[in-house]
Amino acid sequence: MTATPEAAPIPQTEPDGGSYDVIIVGAGISGLGAAYRITERRPGTRYVILERRDQIGGTWDLFRYPGVRSDSSIFTLSFPWEPWTRREGVADGDHIREYLVDTARKHGIYPNIHFHTHVVSADWDSATDTWTVHTTDAATGASATYRGRFVFFGSGYYNYDEGFTPQFPGIETFKGTVVHPQFWPGDLDYDGKKMVVIGSGATAISLIPALAKKAAKVTMLQRSPTYLFSGPRVNPALQAIRKVFPRKISHAIVRFVAAAFEGVIWFIARTSPGLAKALIRRQNASKLPPGYPVDIHFKPRYNPWDQRLCLVTDGDMFAAISSGRAEVVTDHIDHFDETGIVLKSGGHLDADIVVTATGLQLQALGGVRISLDGVEIKPQDRFVYKAHMLEDVPNLVWCVGYTNASWTLRADITARATAKLIDYMDSRGYTHAYPHLGGEPMPEKLAWDIQAGYVLRNLHALPKSGTKRPWNVRQNYFADAIDYNFVDKIDEDMAFGRVSELSRSA
Ligand SMILES: Cc1cc2nc3c(=O)[nH]c(=O)nc-3n(C[C@H](O)[C@H](O)[C@H](O)COP(=O)(O)OP(=O)(O)OC[C@H]3O[C@@H](n4cnc5c(N)ncnc54)[C@H](O)[C@@H]3O)c2cc1C
Repeated sequence: MTATPEAAPIPQTEPDGGSYDVIIVGAGISGLGAAYRITERRPGTRYVILERRDQIGGTWDLFRYPGVRSDSSIFTLSFPWEPWTRREGVADGDHIREYLVDTARKHGIYPNIHFHTHVVSADWDSATDTWTVHTTDAATGASATYRGRFVFFGSGYYNYDEGFTPQFPGIETFKGTVVHPQFWPGDLDYDGKKMVVIGSGATAISLIPALAKKAAKVTMLQRSPTYLFSGPRVNPALQAIRKVFPRKISHAIVRFVAAAFEGVIWFIARTSPGLAKALIRRQNASKLPPGYPVDIHFKPRYNPWDQRLCLVTDGDMFAAISSGRAEVVTDHIDHFDETGIVLKSGGHLDADIVVTATGLQLQALGGVRISLDGVEIKPQDRFVYKAHMLEDVPNLVWCVGYTNASWTLRADITARATAKLIDYMDSRGYTHAYPHLGGEPMPEKLAWDIQAGYVLRNLHALPKSGTKRPWNVRQNYFADAIDYNFVDKIDEDMAFGRVSELSRSA
């Protein structure tokens, strides 16, 4: 996008953060990926990344609980343009954070990040085709105003300030420590302690084997079972490919193989749930002690991939159970007492520390208040176009990954589509572009059709999906990649226009 010396000066009520072609919100995988793709396509684009925290990495900086790791392949979670060089295909959280920091440094993205800059609102002015973005610094209370022609939200999908914890009766009487994995205290001493982890999602499954190394005993308390499937941390077949080919080529091949493998697993689960259930059960039983009640603790009522399939690396969760250092209890909480949890069955779980691995709170657009010419809009009232633009909202993108494959697979398509759109607009002198749904009203479907608790609790936090392309949000990387590369037209269902240079500088 062309530089913006012509942008109108900001009224001096707040410090001027500057004027940019693109304002990116968030310095996680999505924000960094957007910075790379936008400048790759159009070098010299003036962009800034506004990040509320003091470090990059987003999820991989925030979540610090023991054992935090990817639960999809790191070869697809890493960027296609920056090879993952470590051996593991399932990566630890701090290695992912290091990779993101190194990548931002290597590609010159770092100096464009403004830390401690929390975006609170973004207002579109159609007289000048400009976004005005207001920010605060939570630590100092300082505020600032930025202006941009395009806003790209790489702000993730959940509330950074609060995790989800149900109201457990009597929790205030518990004399031990209660911890949410989203805010793990770095100095928490759990050596030799009795721990109960409430929940059986990906967080619990990666946390428990790590805790079990030091804790006296770790109990996973679940209301109902989750499907677990064990895979290797280092995959010998992928390693063999990486040894044969040069780094960039092998990254592309391994990435494709990992995406295809995850796609096949998902396809089998959806089309032949009986087969998938049998395979999973067989594997679980083979890794647990003889006679273990697999059907009580690991046989969900739903079909595989109705909810995310949880990855166990190198069978570590099963090993922790087999060694007696971890156990699974399938029951309901009646109430907390001073020493632990009283179960509906009448049992009692003694605990020094209770971990509430009970999930996230879904949040659209980083909780930022969006308005068009002073009128507030709600993202959940709008249809979403190609899974990243909002109906009738100009020059705004929200980057959201897949629920059934690595986030970056779609985040990179979104970043490339944004770069392409900006390039297209610039080459024709357009100053605004927005998707517009003309014709017959379109039936609505859920954008995230996964039965995860954090989605079901807040179904309407997300924009609406339509039922036909390009308004249909699909959880299908290969279909999206084919559409993006061969089918999608840039001007399909899009309205473009320009304001005069005069009004931009008025
Ligand atoms: C524990 C955990 C494990 C996960 N594991 C996987 C996995 O294995 N594979 C996978 O594909 N996905 C996984 N996910 C999903 C994960 O969030 C994505 O992989 C990916 O990290 C999302 O990147 P992002 O940049 O879009 O968002 P985030 O990583 O959430 O980063 C968003 C950034 O935006 C900033 N931000 C938000 N709002 C504002 C605002 N208003 N103003 C300024 N800055 C703001 C945040 O501070 C943050 O730095 C996991 C999620 C969690 C919570």
